[in-house]
Amino acid sequence: MHLSSITLRGFKSFPDRTRLTFAPGVSVIVGPNGSGKSNITDAVLWALGEQSPVAVRGQSMQDVIFAGAHGVKSRSEAEVEVVLDNASGRVDLPAGEISITRRLNRAGDGEYRINGAKCRLTDVIEILSDTGMGKEMHSVVSQGRVMEIVTSKPKDRRMLIEEAAGLGKHRKRRRKAQLKLERTQDNLDRALDVEREAR
Ligand code: ATP
Repeated sequence: MHLSSITLRGFKSFPDRTRLTFAPGVSVIVGPNGSGKSNITDAVLWALGEQSPVAVRGQSMQDVIFAGAHGVKSRSEAEVEVVLDNASGRVDLPAGEISITRRLNRAGDGEYRINGAKCRLTDVIEILSDTGMGKEMHSVVSQGRVMEIVTSKPKDRRMLIEEAAGLGKHRKRRRKAQLKLERTQDNLDRALDVEREAR
């Protein structure tokens, strides 16, 4: 599964509709300082549901909306569409491509869409948990984080690689199941106590 394209409109330094396509393998975005390279990775994070303005280098979420520059008027809303190739069927949807779109206006109203259909943020998170992409999954690694990862403890690094490989979802499910088992064992112990006392 790979990122096939990203389309930005009114997002940060991209006032007009701008589409970037990516082939499988490694892609490199080059450009002068301040030309908007990091804004593209911000856009990927944002479209995939990032909730912290700081994580996309802003103070409020509306900071992602194009604020006007070089004689170009500001925009009233930002929209980013991320398209993931689903030829492998990793996402359990009958579609060869998964399109995730996020939109936000200056009033703070926003929406998410999966393959054009309106949905909730939780639906986006659920879909992404099958892919190894998305929030907390380290699919976007910022410049500062590289050193942190390289020098981290092997156990922490392993956790990070597992999250990126999409294993985080299974770890959370296992934890949930363990808690349920523990609760059931407690209930059973209590029931046995009551039975013993009744004898
Ligand atoms: P570097 O190589 O120095 O890391 P970069 O290519 O990654 O730079 P970015 O940080 O992506 O550059 O882009 C910074 C530019 O984006 C700045 O010129 C900034 O003014 C512009 N920018 C950020 N947010 C907005 C916004 N909401 N509206 C208009 N322009 C914006």
